[in-house]
Amino acid sequence: MSAGSDPLALSARHHFQRAADGLELDSGLRDLLSEPRRELRVRLPVVMDDGELQVFDAVRVVHSDARGPAKGGLRYAPSVSPGEVRALAALMSWKCALMDLPFGGGKGGVTVDRSSISDQETRALTEALVDALAPFLGPDRDIPAPDMYTDERVMAWFMDAYRRHAAGQVPGVVTGKPRALGGSRGRNRATARGSAHIIRQALAWCDRELEGASVAIQGFGNAGRGLARILGGELGLRVVAVSDSSGGVYREDGLDAEALATAKEEGASVSELAGGEHGDALTNEELLALEVDVLAPAALEGVVTEENASRVRARLLVETANGPVLPGADPILEESGVRVVPDILASGGGVTVSWFEWVQNRSGDRWSADKVEARLQERMGLAWEAVRTRAEDRELSLRDAAWQVGVERVAEAERYRRV
Ligand code: NAD
Repeated sequence: MSAGSDPLALSARHHFQRAADGLELDSGLRDLLSEPRRELRVRLPVVMDDGELQVFDAVRVVHSDARGPAKGGLRYAPSVSPGEVRALAALMSWKCALMDLPFGGGKGGVTVDRSSISDQETRALTEALVDALAPFLGPDRDIPAPDMYTDERVMAWFMDAYRRHAAGQVPGVVTGKPRALGGSRGRNRATARGSAHIIRQALAWCDRELEGASVAIQGFGNAGRGLARILGGELGLRVVAVSDSSGGVYREDGLDAEALATAKEEGASVSELAGGEHGDALTNEELLALEVDVLAPAALEGVVTEENASRVRARLLVETANGPVLPGADPILEESGVRVVPDILASGGGVTVSWFEWVQNRSGDRWSADKVEARLQERMGLAWEAVRTRAEDRELSLRDAAWQVGVERVAEAERYRRV
């Protein structure tokens, strides 16, 4: 993979090579799977609100479509680069395969600062993107979804623009749509819910009771807030610390996760809430070093490094974000007895409910919240079992086991297609 220096790309290459070695993948398949199948770079002309023409760079990468149409998010961010998008597309291939979804992996992005353009300009940008990519999109080809700085409104514009190319309604061309346009129940909390299911299984595997187990969560956005609510609420864990980019709040006997999440949604930063009734202030570095049953980094990539890994004292580190632990930190955590549940497993709930949305769109059905939840729980349970048994049978870390299962399933599909 042409990784460049992007940390996520370097990390994805490292884990892929380990999995390929462990599976003794032949050189042809290794070569095929180490690079994307397709990469489209396009320039998008947009007439801005002031009448001036501006051109934006965009990229859409399909890493693999061996198991089905490509699935993966679309980000609108200044940092978007082909190297990062390639790595994220490959991660989607392994994640979809591990969750046993009938999808390959893709990812895309536009290099733009969303805060510097209006809604009208964002809509025009989205339409230009669909115009450029239309022949390669569709529910049987490539199905984008929200990602950094794209939301359900962008997906609605995307679907609407695609309709002109398809000469009809095709709701299955994107997921993460508003409910009114065919979005699924349960999508907003899907990543958090999936992570919570995995945490439940992983604690049982470590012979630790769920009730009262302590947890610290870094990141209080969509994934982190949802996770705090579910773990602290219905599952009865003790959420002792949460943080956002401003800092964190800590209380030994457990925070009121619901009250904190509501205050955050009303505009407060976590550090503003610390120091009073909610709990004491703590830094993000202190949060990572807490002695807890579960540490869930749910914010950024690369937060646990070779430098700070020896300070982690959690029993389980559950990667709710993409790539929070750098490869150099893995052996240090293993040495200290910290079990790491990898991102391709722990954050698989989001794309799984995206699959449910696609299935509902294609069958013209609407599922109840209970049905979404029951099916998500089933899929997370199957993926956990596949990883746990592989780890135990071959004496592997959960990360190596998860990557092996993901890579093996994609390789198997490629083999059936070609040999
Ligand atoms: P988000 O933008 O809603 O929230 C990100 C949170 O991280 C915010 O609370 C922000 O304040 C916090 N943050 C930023 N910098 C920080 C720092 N230096 N220290 C501590 N906290 C910091 O994003 P999200 O949707 O919750 O996604 C979080 C992670 O989960 C990302 O890695 C994303 O790729 C991954 N993920 C999300 C989904 C999903 O469905 N939302 C699915 C799969 C993976």
